[in-house]
Amino acid sequence: MIREIVKYGHPVLRQKGAAIEKITPDIKQLIAEMFETMQASHGIGLAAQQVGRALQLTVIDVREVKDRPSTLELKGQPAEVAEFMPLVLINPEVTPVGEPAAGGEGCLSFPEMFAEISRPESVDVKALDERGKVIEFRAGGLLARAVQHEADHLNGILFIDRMERKTKEEFRDELDALQVATKAELAAARKSKKT
Ligand code: ZN
Repeated sequence: MIREIVKYGHPVLRQKGAAIEKITPDIKQLIAEMFETMQASHGIGLAAQQVGRALQLTVIDVREVKDRPSTLELKGQPAEVAEFMPLVLINPEVTPVGEPAAGGEGCLSFPEMFAEISRPESVDVKALDERGKVIEFRAGGLLARAVQHEADHLNGILFIDRMERKTKEEFRDELDALQVATKAELAAARKSKKT
């Protein structure tokens, strides 16, 4: 089932995700639905918060992007990114490696907004996969960016928080309008539930 993607202004996007203790059928179902939702929106990553669940869970798949390279190392050895996709990260720990680099970024919770965001070039990642197995890797390029963007979501941090002040100011009207629209939608949903 394709889930509705939560937009900016919804409080769940600011919630830190709870750690997942056990991969229950509910979590497995959620993972499947997150993949379906991400693919339908042509995203390269989706966090649980973006489908309304504050959990330490994200899905990533960078295979569709051909013009922005990703790199992957497993135990210090270069590995094939495509073979490692799609990726489920549960309770991820992300350690930045390398210098910050600017790169274009968007977010499914902020339709039509794209900006240059500076983030460390590479990251070391330790997480559980969808079977509860520990996975460890070093990501670079677009994959490193996607991992950091999604790990931020799991902590209630949004890409607008990483924008330069000037860039964020340029989006001010759009951000305000999006927030108002999301809150109005939430209020309408609450009202219709009551009646
Ligand atoms: Zn996002």
